[in-house]
Amino acid sequence: MSCLTTPPAAAAHDASAGDFNAFETMQPRAPARTPPERRNGARVKSADLPPSGVYLPNNNLLAPHMRSPEYVQISTAAAMTLGLMPGRMHRCACTRCLNLLLTYPEGCRANCAYCGLARHREADRDYADRNFIRVDWPAVPVERMVEIVARDGAASAFHRMCISMITHPRSDADTVAVLRAWTRRIDPAAVPVSILSNPTTMSRDDVLRLKDLGADIFTVALDAATPAIFERTRGKGVQSPHRWSKYWEILQAARAIFGPQKFGAHIIIGMGETEHEALTLVQQLVDLGGHSHLFCFFPERGSLMDHLPATPRDQWRRVQLARYLMDYAAVRLEHMRFDEHGRVVDFGLPKAELDDIIDDGVAFRTSGCPGKFRDDISACDRPYGDSPPSDIASFPFAPNRADLRRIRRQLRVPVVREDA
Ligand code: SF4
Repeated sequence: MSCLTTPPAAAAHDASAGDFNAFETMQPRAPARTPPERRNGARVKSADLPPSGVYLPNNNLLAPHMRSPEYVQISTAAAMTLGLMPGRMHRCACTRCLNLLLTYPEGCRANCAYCGLARHREADRDYADRNFIRVDWPAVPVERMVEIVARDGAASAFHRMCISMITHPRSDADTVAVLRAWTRRIDPAAVPVSILSNPTTMSRDDVLRLKDLGADIFTVALDAATPAIFERTRGKGVQSPHRWSKYWEILQAARAIFGPQKFGAHIIIGMGETEHEALTLVQQLVDLGGHSHLFCFFPERGSLMDHLPATPRDQWRRVQLARYLMDYAAVRLEHMRFDEHGRVVDFGLPKAELDDIIDDGVAFRTSGCPGKFRDDISACDRPYGDSPPSDIASFPFAPNRADLRRIRRQLRVPVVREDA
């Protein structure tokens, strides 16, 4: 039995409170000019220090010359789980997803305004030293990483591996090479592989090749919920090469090639879209047969949006809950009601059903490709990738009772009774 109940008008709130990140507020800074001697990884390439084993990011060192497909970067959580980096994550024993980034001295050639890997950062930080989704990404030899996971086989802590392609002329070929190195030693049925694609450099044939080589799920990081936000944060607005239409072309190719439930898109919530706009996109993806994976906007240190506010928790929780209902509880956009600012005021479910879903807590966990527990529990838990541990946005573990009480306050769904 649920220990918490909601009043009928639970989600109603003050329209003048300014409790969402409005489009006008979320304007990125313009990128500064990079001195020629710092462009394209020139410092790393001219010093040409040979890599030796695992490289732990340290901005006081000159990064060695590391390149995919021999090297990849992995998340701090993955490095800890593999035993390649000391430390513990707050309230997490390990991560269930081995997230990889392709790596090159010249780095990602795009300039996305919210991203710590963006090109404009070459003025002050070697690529391998840049923070991304709030954490460092150690660089590791692919052979060593594969060796560790292959040793454990199906008993591996990892439920999934994901290759993030970044934007680089070599990334299509090197994604294939890393995928081949993985599947040569590791059965993709034991640890399935997801591709976080870079549509800008890809063709339909590239999508097909990855499927033929054993990739399980293909995702497109739309990130922006609307074409205007896309253009402002990933396109011409910040001298970046991406186009909304190209992202959709590859998303449609993934739909045709990977099939229902095997493709999806990433969406960052709180970059200036309304809740209604974000959820319209979620519904569009559901109707196509795909999933949406949400990220809460956080002002990444060193990015062109690091001066802007993180997404207010009530905006985030409403979209997080609504997206879960649409992806996993057959609630549709047209069942929900919105206020004049596009904010959710009715989730379209009877109160008791909504209570049960809130109490289950899964709706507030990190969203992403599934692992081995349940279809709606993501392998990709990205611990603290979109918030500090003191104010968790995406829970990398099951929220406990105290977490759920806080979530209800953030949703503006008050705790009425606490008898359990
Ligand atoms: S393409 Fe991806 S990695 Fe590159 S700047 Fe944009 S978001 Fe960051």
